[in-house]
Amino acid sequence: MDKEKLKGVAIKEVDSRQDELRDLSLKIHSNPEQGFHEVQAAAWLTGYLEKNGFSVERGIYGLETAFRARYGSGRPAIALMAEYDSLPAVGHACGHNIISTSAAGAGVASKMAVDSLSGSVLVIGTPAEEIYGGKALMAERGAFSDLDIAMMVHPASYNVSAMEALACQTLQVEFFGRAAHAAAQPEAGINALEAMLLSFNAINSLRQHIRNRARIHGIITDGGKAANIVPDHSAGDFIVRAGDNEYLTDLKERVLDCFIGAATATGARLEYKWGDVCYSALRNNNTLIGLFNENMKTVGREMLPVIPGQSFGSTDMGNVSQLVPSIHPFIAITDVNVLIHSPQFAEAAASERAIEGLLDAAKALAMTVIDLLASPETVAKAKEEFTLGND
Ligand SMILES: [Zn+2]
Ligand SMILES: [Zn+2]
Repeated sequence: MDKEKLKGVAIKEVDSRQDELRDLSLKIHSNPEQGFHEVQAAAWLTGYLEKNGFSVERGIYGLETAFRARYGSGRPAIALMAEYDSLPAVGHACGHNIISTSAAGAGVASKMAVDSLSGSVLVIGTPAEEIYGGKALMAERGAFSDLDIAMMVHPASYNVSAMEALACQTLQVEFFGRAAHAAAQPEAGINALEAMLLSFNAINSLRQHIRNRARIHGIITDGGKAANIVPDHSAGDFIVRAGDNEYLTDLKERVLDCFIGAATATGARLEYKWGDVCYSALRNNNTLIGLFNENMKTVGREMLPVIPGQSFGSTDMGNVSQLVPSIHPFIAITDVNVLIHSPQFAEAAASERAIEGLLDAAKALAMTVIDLLASPETVAKAKEEFTLGND
């Protein structure tokens, strides 16, 4: 069967499964589970894929709620990434129910193409995108080493083909001083809060002289216990972000120097801990974007190149994109004034417009899988772009 016929089959397949995909999405949405606790979502998704002929491995790479579902065994191996974690308090305000259901729908709709061409399609369940960077852990443990291409679609308020996502790492800082009566014997104290305030000032000075896309931001989580006691302890949480992984490494050192300098100035002792995972910057593969955009046109969506006037935070898909040619486009499921991570976006992620978005995303992903399975040259082109670093 030729490529266009296979695409037609995939579109019909998604349409004929729209009720079950809607149910799956709404079920995940109404049972929000946070990172590494996505037990039900993982069970529903793997159950659906298994029922539809995928061979499923659960609890992979030491992560209970991670999974890999595979159909076919050959190369190229095209992966559709599924996220299904929610946020504290606001549920599915990032719409990860749409990501996972569109990946599952696209996987099932690609089966006929796998049967008639060569290669395999995988749906990879990647937990804890929001806080712990599940894909970063999985990447370190080799979960993506045998893939040729990785794709996912994230809901948003725009149809956008590429994402700008920064490399980032969290930093926890504590200063230890010496308590004393703040008026009677201040000379006996070492002020841990002053060390924290000096650190903020040093970072503010540093911020004037860093690259445009870099970000440093933080909060104080302990600033002392009483105004008449010299604080003997202070603590803060920070995030350092940069446009690429190399600059993040440089910037982390300079940020750390701000804390070290403040410790020296005040005499407080510094303890710090970088987050276990480092989110990598996202590389968007233009060859894949070109295919995906054309397929989105088929379902009636015109993709913008970037989100107007806005850049994004960070995603653990960045870590996948450093290993294998990847895309992370966005699909509009709501109006442009609805902000991601807000209660309004959580509501939008269960709307009829979100269902339309997930069906269109599933179709476009499946059609892109077909483009790739049908053309080894296109896979080679995406890989060449990746290797040359032209993306
Ligand atoms: Zn999010
Ligand atoms: Zn998200």
